[in-house]
Amino acid sequence: IEFEHCGFPATLNSNLKNSGYEVPTPIQMQMIPVGLLGRDIVASADTGSGKTAAFLLPTETPSALILAPTRELAIQIERQAKELMAGLPNMRTVLLVGGLPLPPQLHRLKQRVKVIIATPGRLLEILRQSSVQLHGIKTVVVDEVDTMLKMGFQQQVLDILEDISHNHQTILVSATIPVGIEHLANQLLHNFVRITI
Ligand code: AMP
Repeated sequence: IEFEHCGFPATLNSNLKNSGYEVPTPIQMQMIPVGLLGRDIVASADTGSGKTAAFLLPTETPSALILAPTRELAIQIERQAKELMAGLPNMRTVLLVGGLPLPPQLHRLKQRVKVIIATPGRLLEILRQSSVQLHGIKTVVVDEVDTMLKMGFQQQVLDILEDISHNHQTILVSATIPVGIEHLANQLLHNFVRITI
């Protein structure tokens, strides 16, 4: 596939050009068409493969929640989302991570946001302390699932996903596919497509 054949809005195509993305990487070639179909995915992809854009690009229209194990990764994902989606209507991001003050994050979350990028601990803190509910999420991405499991976030991820409507697309991305992911995938995903590069 080529980016121009994906049916993206013109603004997105020009953002891709401006960012120097000329051809999709192998993981993008596989994930974008499946992601656009709304299918659940378990993808094994490492940092540097272009995995972030592979899950960001198909989520241009609906609301998305992206969970990352660390603040640093969440910040990187938000930066890439802002760059790729600049100028698209209603593409507001909010970053919900620990180690930064909570009130401004909460304030922004209460406004109309389309892409929530969060670490599990801070998101649960917000869901438990405030009246905010995660309505209308169409896509949930759990990035670096192997690191999530290593850091002991499995239950927190499950708790968060329990709070969200059940009619969403779920995408798990992981550098390696440890046994724990099979468990998580079987609990959370429906008829998922496995993608490896
Ligand atoms: P990631 O694997 O998501 O950490 O991405 C690695 C780097 O590759 C990031 O800096 C992206 O901006 C860049 N990148 C992702 N997709 C493409 C592409 N199709 N063409 C050029 N650069 C890309």
